[in-house]
Amino acid sequence: MPVPPEAPGDGVPVTAPVSRPPAVPVTPALTLEQLRALPAAQQPTYADRTHVDRVVDQLRTLPPLVFAGECDTLTARLGQVADGKAFVLQGGDCAETLAGVRADAIRNTLRTLLSMSVVLTYAGSVPVVKLGRIAGQYTKPRSKPTETRDGVELPAYRGDAVNGFEFTPAAREADPDRMLRVYNASAATLNLVRAFTHGGEADLRQVHQWNSRFVADNPAGAQYDSVARDIDKAIAFMNACGVETDSLHTVDLYASHEALLLDYEHAMTRVDSRTGVPYGTSGHFLWVGERTRQLDHAHLAWAATVRNPLGVKLGPTTTVEEALGYARALNPDNIPGRLTFVTRMGADRIREHLPALVQGVTNAGVSVAWVCDPMHGNTFETDTGYKTRRFDDVLDEVYGFFDVHRDLGTWPGGLHVELSGEEVTECVGGGYQLAETDLSTRYETVCDPRLNRGQALELAFLVAKMLGTPRDGSVVAGRNPAAAVGVPAGVDGVGAGRA
Ligand code: PEP
Ligand code: MN
Repeated sequence: MPVPPEAPGDGVPVTAPVSRPPAVPVTPALTLEQLRALPAAQQPTYADRTHVDRVVDQLRTLPPLVFAGECDTLTARLGQVADGKAFVLQGGDCAETLAGVRADAIRNTLRTLLSMSVVLTYAGSVPVVKLGRIAGQYTKPRSKPTETRDGVELPAYRGDAVNGFEFTPAAREADPDRMLRVYNASAATLNLVRAFTHGGEADLRQVHQWNSRFVADNPAGAQYDSVARDIDKAIAFMNACGVETDSLHTVDLYASHEALLLDYEHAMTRVDSRTGVPYGTSGHFLWVGERTRQLDHAHLAWAATVRNPLGVKLGPTTTVEEALGYARALNPDNIPGRLTFVTRMGADRIREHLPALVQGVTNAGVSVAWVCDPMHGNTFETDTGYKTRRFDDVLDEVYGFFDVHRDLGTWPGGLHVELSGEEVTECVGGGYQLAETDLSTRYETVCDPRLNRGQALELAFLVAKMLGTPRDGSVVAGRNPAAAVGVPAGVDGVGAGRA
């Protein structure tokens, strides 16, 4: 079925100073039949395809969740990241759940992202583009198509957009109606996110107060005290000067998810009446995962047809040729911000594998934002059967990422983390030194383990410490913050040298 023409995709209040959409060329839209004819990994097996088609038809009649103009603004902002002038923080659940669409959970995720952003903005002296893994992150790739428990084999859980987590034949059956539920859940989530981010929750002074409280309460908080106090002073200085702009009270938070479920993503593709080209309207930033990034497969083919800013996850086996292939397929005109590479190598491999990749891509003149996902290469299972990650491994991969980019003189563009705004117990380590025996206390993820609020904030403070604080330009732990971001010391705008 072709994408319906002239669906509403514009008329958006665009808050950022972007005057025109970037000229990303888009290949002609694929029909759903053409898309389905391509090889595609990680798709559910539905018992009744006509039921899927009915749901897809219904989704096509529903309003877009995001607007084309917002996606263009985000492309422009990510273009600043690609150009070394901004940082991106992308974070949220590994897998959202329908039951998790609650005001308090959404608010807490948002608060955690905003808290981290304030710290990173201050540390880097660059804008931080905020991307939630939110309002659409409902489909998961799995290592095996089935799961066996006590001799019983059932289809694997593929995310709430596909089937239920409960280990029963009924729950694990792929149900097309779940796509509609996910559409509605995403709409409700986005609605609250927009209300929170523009209705007072994002006030800088308030966000900083949460951070100060965190520093006071956390057992490892003393080491973050100087960063927090520096931010205090900066805010007091702005107050004294009477600085008063909207940007102190509101933020733009964009929605992102893995574009995995092809029927859903195709159903949510709309042609923008301003530009006449299709956008994926299920979220602002859509990424292709490590397991579905085959160059000749359906996920890449679909992504090439939409004008959103796009990501591709790159694991440790990624070759330069593959990376250049993604750039050719998704960003043939080399528009900054159109393409983000999210590397997820593993703490023990990043220093070995990332340099050649970054170098090959850079030497080819390809514009890309480099983002570090320090989560997916560092997962292991405990003897007691919990999937977890060590906070120190996560941190080490982040340090490795900065080290590699510092050595190459390229820009370490951002972080991509799985986090919860609540005090869950899914990753070990951190200031509270969560042990493997603590994991059962509050292990709530239905897929990968997330940093809890405290661990996520600690990560931000540790990255801030590593970058050095702008106050005195001091070098922390032997790391040269200016070199870390690829500029000579004293250059305005980044780390050291900014008074
Ligand atoms: C994810 O982001 O949850 C995920 C599955 O990542 P990757 O594709 O990098 O394995
Ligand atoms: Mn995950």
